[in-house]
Amino acid sequence: MTVTPFPQLDIPNTLAAGPGPGNTDSRVLARYAASGVADHMHGDVLRGMVECKDMLRIVMGTKNTHTFGVAGTGWSGLDMMFAPVMPRDKVVMFVNGTFSGIDGLTVRMKAATAEELAENSLNPTAASVTLIDVPHGQSVTGEIVEAALAEHKPKWAAMAHWETGSGRVNDIEGFSAACEKHDVMGLVDAVSSLGVGDFSIDDYPGVHGWASCPQKGINCLPLTYAPVSFTDRYIEELRATGTRTFCHHPILEARHWGIIDGKDVEKGTYHRTHSAYAVSAFHEALRICIEETIAKRAADYTFHESALRAAVEAMGCEVTSNMPSLIVLNLPGALAGREMELVQHCRAQNFGIWPTLSEPVQVRIGILNLLTAATITDIVTRFGQAIRDLGGDFDQTAVDAALAGHYDRAVAAE
Ligand SMILES: *Cc1c(COP(=O)(O)O)cnc(C)c1O
Repeated sequence: MTVTPFPQLDIPNTLAAGPGPGNTDSRVLARYAASGVADHMHGDVLRGMVECKDMLRIVMGTKNTHTFGVAGTGWSGLDMMFAPVMPRDKVVMFVNGTFSGIDGLTVRMKAATAEELAENSLNPTAASVTLIDVPHGQSVTGEIVEAALAEHKPKWAAMAHWETGSGRVNDIEGFSAACEKHDVMGLVDAVSSLGVGDFSIDDYPGVHGWASCPQKGINCLPLTYAPVSFTDRYIEELRATGTRTFCHHPILEARHWGIIDGKDVEKGTYHRTHSAYAVSAFHEALRICIEETIAKRAADYTFHESALRAAVEAMGCEVTSNMPSLIVLNLPGALAGREMELVQHCRAQNFGIWPTLSEPVQVRIGILNLLTAATITDIVTRFGQAIRDLGGDFDQTAVDAALAGHYDRAVAAE
């Protein structure tokens, strides 16, 4: 039998202006490609992993010993973070969009009894899990968390720090305070906030588990590591109850990163086959975060987000988000309801913006690692052209003035 050869796979470079993945830094790709093949117990690979662990503690702002990377994507880190949730555990989940919704699904799968899981295995209901639904476009507030924890007194509570589905920043301070007050162990999905917002996880003592991802604020898409961090109390609890996973076991996976019996050791021991390429790429991404500083990056995101926001508002769009790396908007009245069509039109030209993934349909434009006046102006130009292509209209001088208002002021201040 002859098999026609498959042609080589070519993937174009797009303007990745969505909620994620972010634009991988060229330095990260260079280190990825320059790494030699070396096995997962080679001294330099192990040293690289220990250095990554040390850098992650700086990037996350923590003294937690159990701080390391989980091979894979954001969901890999989240799956590990939720690993200690056992059947019948009482959990309160705060849901205000697509991603916290999936966190809720993850937790229902883990907390469901065998019978509950068998009843609807892909979307189980778990009697011990309470979902607090906060409407799309709104943030989870400290008052909402306080009221729910006072009423339900769960063992665990979980929330997305920034809900990327609707572009909303949730009240992490209020969440942490309520968890502390009611002696609840807080778990936070920090997938879209790490590397974008200026915060130190140790400032939130009610939160005992944190999980993030490689591809958003850390700019390290080449499938690498999802940062996680766990307090000693979380680890003690996990040790007491156990969890039914080897791969995503927080104590077992930490061993490869040189964390054994709750202490840093010089060299890790085998958990799974790590890639020298991935370790090199992740190491470089963390070096860049520390060089640039999280504070500087956070300020840049805030600055460029406000320029983009002003420009799309000048086009007549209504922005409903408050995240510094992402704008979520409704199109001007004349184009209302055509959000999906506009997004598809842009995507067909490799201008990679996104719709919301759950109702209502809105447009999402992200600026991960696109922090220059030139790129923001390019995004605004392409977006404006798409509006015109669909038959919309706006006053270009107002848009130019909005951008100039931000960028000329910044130049003047230099
Ligand atoms: C992107 C995202 C995820 C999922 O991350 P993957 O890297 O796609 O696995 C989970 N939670 C939030 C808040 C996100 O923004």
